Amino acid sequence: MCIMANYFKTKLRNALWKAQHFTRAVKKNLKDRDRSLVKARNRRKTVLDYGPINIFVDPTNVCNLKCPMCPTGAGLTKSEKGFLDHAVLIKVVSELKHTPKTFGLWLAGEPLLHPQIDGLIRICAQHGIKATLHTNATKLTPEMSEKIINAGLYEISFSFDGRTVQEYEMLRTGADFSKVVDNICAFLRMKQKRCSPLPRATVQNIEAYEKGRHNRRPLYEKRELLEEKFRDLPVDEFKTILAHAWSGVMDGTEYVSPSHCKGKRWVCDVPYRDLTFNWKGEAVTCCGDLDNANILGDIKKENLYEIWNNANFQRFRAAMHRDEIEKFALCKDCERIWADPHPLDYELRLEMLRYKLRV
Ligand code: SF4
Repeated sequence: MCIMANYFKTKLRNALWKAQHFTRAVKKNLKDRDRSLVKARNRRKTVLDYGPINIFVDPTNVCNLKCPMCPTGAGLTKSEKGFLDHAVLIKVVSELKHTPKTFGLWLAGEPLLHPQIDGLIRICAQHGIKATLHTNATKLTPEMSEKIINAGLYEISFSFDGRTVQEYEMLRTGADFSKVVDNICAFLRMKQKRCSPLPRATVQNIEAYEKGRHNRRPLYEKRELLEEKFRDLPVDEFKTILAHAWSGVMDGTEYVSPSHCKGKRWVCDVPYRDLTFNWKGEAVTCCGDLDNANILGDIKKENLYEIWNNANFQRFRAAMHRDEIEKFALCKDCERIWADPHPLDYELRLEMLRYKLRV
């Protein structure tokens, strides 16, 4: 009797969690969708009359961890390692004539390893741009926290995976759990002392797969434990994202979902939304392109808006619509363009429905 009761209780709890997650995804989708993007993509335009909605500029593709679910950490990237030059960032921000929704100073490595990361943030702040960082927080010493807050950082997101010390240290190989928790807490206390809502702080947890694939644990357990760690500290958002196969690069490795590559293909909205630069200033496919699979432009040679609508970008968007994506190495194995997303990826499912209905 007791076993049955527990069984139904778990079923009900899972159903409630899914319903909540779905409602959140619907609301977020309706709120976040940019009308220009939806119109342009649904009308199959290849030249866009609006600027990139999100921009990413990579400070460095060097990382100090060996995370098994990341191509950089797993040692699967072959591109030259290096650090962003200030001049490249200055060119990007001084050419910007609109305000992007996100301006991310991160991509293929750990941004806090850049020796002048505070200088890069300051350049953005001086141009009125809200810079965001995504970090593993291993290098977030109190001095570093002070430097980046003073430089005018708008938002910081911490990669914090796993429910226990063992899980964390397995997923974030090379990081010390207690040290990272201390670093994040010290940063948050510093923010609290300043009585300022900025920088916004997000704690992000990757929902890694267990060896059995798709044998997932319920996410809410993780979230509760995660929230407990930072109780009473000013975290603006706790976010859980699904580990993915990085366009097939991580296929066959543990902890990531295999890329689906089956069913019908649809059109990825990333070429309509994001402009991503590697540390050299070359425009690459998207924030999943950690190894420069497709170079679409170079900010050192072209203006930012020229790149956004250059011949490469037009070909890229057209290929999406013509189902000729084989021409773009990274996209052909990307789970995002296959009409078979994970059942819990409600946002992508909704987006596909909107594309189908052209709304
Ligand atoms: S299909 Fe995948 S790899 Fe290609 S742009 Fe979209 S998200 Fe990036």
